[in-house]
Amino acid sequence: MNTKWVYFFGDGQTDGQQHEKNLVGGKGANLAEMIELGIPVPAGMTITTDACTAFYANGEKWVDGLEEQIKENITRIEQSMGAKFGDKENPLLLSVRSGARVSMPGMMDTVLNLGLNDETVEALAKKSGNPRFAWDSYRRFIQMYGDVVMGVDHADFEQALAAERVKYGVELDNELSVEALKDLVADYKELIQKSAGKLFPDDPFEQLRGSIDAVFRSWNTARAIRYRQINHIPHEWGTAVNVQAMVYGNMGANSGTGVAFTRDPSTGENVFYGEYLMDAQGEDVVAGIRTPHPIAHLQEDMPAVYDELVAIYKLLENHSKDMPDVEFTIQEGKLYMLQTRSGKRTATAAVRIAVEMVAEGLIDKKEAVLRVDPIQLDQLLHPMIDPNAKYDVIATGLPASPGAAAGRIVFTAEEAEVWKNRDEKVILVRNETSPEDIGGMDVAEGILTARGGMTSHAAVVARGMGKCCVAGCSAAQISEANKTLTFGNTVLKEGDWVTLNGTAGEVIVGEVAMVEVQVEGNFGTLMEWADEFRALGIRTNADTPHDAKTALDFGAEGIGLTRTEHMFFEGERTSLVRQMIFASDKAGREAALAKLLPYQKGDFLGIFETMQGLPVTVRLLDPPLHEFVPHDEPTMKKLASEMGLSVDALKARIESLEEINPMLGHRGCRLGVTYPEIYAMQARAIFEAAAELTKAGLKVFPEVMIPLIGTVEELRMMKQVCVDVANVVAEETGVKFDYLVGTMIEIPRACVVADSVAEEAEFFSFGTNDLTQMTFGYSRDDAGTFLPEYVEKGVLARDPFQSLDQVGVGALVKMGVEKGRSNKPNLKVGVCGEHGGDPASIEFFHSAGLDYVSCSPYRVPIARLAAAQANLRNPR
Ligand code: ADP
Ligand code: MG
Ligand code: MG
Repeated sequence: MNTKWVYFFGDGQTDGQQHEKNLVGGKGANLAEMIELGIPVPAGMTITTDACTAFYANGEKWVDGLEEQIKENITRIEQSMGAKFGDKENPLLLSVRSGARVSMPGMMDTVLNLGLNDETVEALAKKSGNPRFAWDSYRRFIQMYGDVVMGVDHADFEQALAAERVKYGVELDNELSVEALKDLVADYKELIQKSAGKLFPDDPFEQLRGSIDAVFRSWNTARAIRYRQINHIPHEWGTAVNVQAMVYGNMGANSGTGVAFTRDPSTGENVFYGEYLMDAQGEDVVAGIRTPHPIAHLQEDMPAVYDELVAIYKLLENHSKDMPDVEFTIQEGKLYMLQTRSGKRTATAAVRIAVEMVAEGLIDKKEAVLRVDPIQLDQLLHPMIDPNAKYDVIATGLPASPGAAAGRIVFTAEEAEVWKNRDEKVILVRNETSPEDIGGMDVAEGILTARGGMTSHAAVVARGMGKCCVAGCSAAQISEANKTLTFGNTVLKEGDWVTLNGTAGEVIVGEVAMVEVQVEGNFGTLMEWADEFRALGIRTNADTPHDAKTALDFGAEGIGLTRTEHMFFEGERTSLVRQMIFASDKAGREAALAKLLPYQKGDFLGIFETMQGLPVTVRLLDPPLHEFVPHDEPTMKKLASEMGLSVDALKARIESLEEINPMLGHRGCRLGVTYPEIYAMQARAIFEAAAELTKAGLKVFPEVMIPLIGTVEELRMMKQVCVDVANVVAEETGVKFDYLVGTMIEIPRACVVADSVAEEAEFFSFGTNDLTQMTFGYSRDDAGTFLPEYVEKGVLARDPFQSLDQVGVGALVKMGVEKGRSNKPNLKVGVCGEHGGDPASIEFFHSAGLDYVSCSPYRVPIARLAAAQANLRNPR
C-alpha cells in the first residue's frame, strides 16, 4: 500500500475529521479550509506529521516515497502558479513553514523565497521588471536560510545589513539600491561560509530538502521538548511541513503585507482591527522595522482590496464562529490570505466576544461558557497596570498573587498599620512573612518578599486576600534595621513609592498608573450562564466577614473553610492564646479560654450573619502551638508577668513545647485529644453564636470540622466533645439550631480507612494541601528549595501544591470518596485546599463526584466557570 505522505492544499484534508487535522497540523488544516471556502490562498502542499515521525524512525532520513510525492506536488503547484521551480526564465519560489497540531515555541521559523540562486534571481528580476524586488527577495532568503537552516547567528546578518545601510547612506532597508543589495548578498554568503563552514546551497531542491529537514528537526529542539513536557503533548505527534508558492508583498508601492483580527483583541469590540505595511514581506509588520498603518487606512489606500478583506474576514468568522486572526499579503493589488487561526485575546475581550456572539446568534450559551479560559479570568478580578503606561522594571520575582498595586514601602507589619492609619498607601517589604505579619499584610496594598516561593506564607495569604504579591525577588536586598530596600545601585528608603505587578512578578520604582478592571455586564452574564451548567457547588475559604462578603459578591454558595487560628493573631487575643498555651495545668488553660470565648463567639456571629442561609464550615484549631510562641524579650516579659510566672519559668514552658518536626507533631485534632477544653471552647463559641442568631430569626448552618484525623477514634472523641457542648448550649439557651460535625481528610491513612471514618463523619472535606504534603512526604514550607528544579528537570510535570497530582494524591481522594460513600451513600464531600481554585484540579474533583469545591474569594468566579466547563465536557 502506498502511504500518502503529502497532501495538496484543498485536496479534502479537512473533511472535519480530527484524524486528518492531526496529519496536516493546525496551519495546514486552516490553509486547506480557506481554499475550500473559496478564499484566495497560494497553492501549496502539506507534508504530514507521519512523515516527520517516519523521518525519526528512519534514522533522520526521508521515508521511501516522500521525495517522489513532494516532486509530484511541486508539479501541481507549478501548474497552478504558471511558473517552474528552479527555472531560468520564470522561476517559482516557495515558502517552507512548520505547523504542528498545536503551535509550539522552538519550532522552525518560516523560510521565504526559497528557490533563488545567482541565476534564478536574474530571471526573477527580468520577469518582474523589478530588479530591486528580486535582489531584496534573494537577500531575505539567504538571511532566513542561513539563520534557521544553517544555524548562523541572526544578529550577524542584522549587523551586515546595518553596515550596508551605513555604507550606502540610507535609513531604511527598503531604500537599499540594487547595487547595495547585490553587495549584501555577497557579504551574506561569505558570512555563511565562515560561520557554518559550508557553502550556501545553490540547487533549489537541495534548498528545499534542507528546509524540510530543519522543520522536522525543530520538533526536537530543547525548547520544543520542554514545552511538550510541561503541556503534556506526546512526543510522537511530530510536526507537519507546509510548502507553499510565494506571493510577494515586497514588489513596490502597490504591494504589502499585514495581520488583522476580526474584532478588537484587547477590548473585544466588534470592529475590524489590524495593521499593514506596504512594500514589505513576512513578519516586517510585527518586527517593528517601520511603523505600520492601522487597517482602516487600507480603505483609502486600496478600497477594493479592503472590501475583499472585509468579506473574507466575515466569512471566516461565520465559519469558525470565533475571532480569527489572519495574515495576508497584497501582490500588486491582488489579495492573498496566508494564515488564519483562533486569535489571542485579553480576558475582557474573551468575555465580551463570547457574550456578544450569543446575542448575534453565532454560538449558544454552552459554547460561550466553554470559550473563556478560567485561568484568564483572573486578569479581570484585580486592578492592573494601565496597558498604555511606560515604565522600567528594576527587578523581577515570582508572580505570586496577581494584580498590581502602588504604595510607599515599609519594612514591618507594625509600620504598615501605623502608616495606614495616616491614610497612606503602603507596600509591605519583608524578607519573608510569618503569621504575625497578617495585620500588616491586611492593610498593605501589596507585598514584596525577597525569599520564598509560590506557596510561601506571603504568596498563599496574599492570594487569599486577593492582594498583589511579588515573592522571592532575590535581587532585593532588604535591611529592616536601616529601613532600606536596595536593588544594585538603587537604594530606596521607607516611604519611597514602589509599584508591584503581581501578575508578572515585576517591581517598579515610583507610582505607575493603574486601571481598576470593571466586572461589568458581560462578565456577570457569562457567570450566570456558567451557573446554569455546573454540577459542583462553589464555596469559599474565608476567615473574616469581609472576606466572606467579597466571596458572596463573587457568587460563593457557602464557606468551605474558616480557619480559626487566624483569628488568634489579633490585638489582645494573642496574649490570651499564649496564656492558654503556656498554662501549666487545665485550670490555667480554662481560665484563659474563658476570656477568649467572647472574642471567638464575636468572630462567628459576624461570619454567620454575613453568610446567613448558607453553610459555614469552621475548622477547629489546627496549627502547631509553637506558631504562637513569642520570640522577643519584651513580649516574653509582659506575658510572664500577666501569667504570674518568672521569665525563666515561661522560657522553660516554651522549651518544653518545642518540637523537631512541628508539621507532623502536636497539632490538629491531636491538640483536641490532649486538651479537649480548647475544642470545647471553640464549639461553644460556634453554638452560642448559632443559637443567638437562630433565635433572632436568621438561618445559620454551622459545620464543625475536625482537622487532621487519621483514625476514626480521634473523630469519635472530638465529635463527642462538640455534641456535648451543643446539647448544653441548646439547653442553656432553649434554642434548637442546626449543625453538622465532620472532618477534614488530609492524612493518607484517613483516605484508606474512609469507610470507618464515615461512620462518625457527617461530611468530608479534603484538605489537599496537607494531603499532598503527606502523600509526597514534601514539607510544603521547604519544598521551594527543590520543587522548581524537579519541575525543570521533568521529575514532576507541575508543582503538586498548585495543581493536584491526579494520579497519586487524586487516587487517594477517589478512594476516600468511594469508601466514605460506601458506608454513607449521601455523605457530603468537598475540598478546601488551594486546589479548589485550580481549573484542572476542579475538573478532576468534578469527575471524582465531589459535591463542592472551596477556594479563596477572588477565585470563586474562576471556579464557577471551570466547574461549568467540567460538566459540559463530562456531564454528571
Ligand atoms: P508563523 O508560524 O510564525 O506565523 P508563518 O508560517 O505564518 O509563521 O510565516 C510568517 C510569515 O511569512 C507570514 O505571516 C507571511 O507574511 C509570510 N509567508 C509565509 N508563507 C508565505 C507565502 N507563501 N508567500 C508570502 N509570504 C509568506
Ligand atoms: Mg514565528
Ligand atoms: Mg503566521
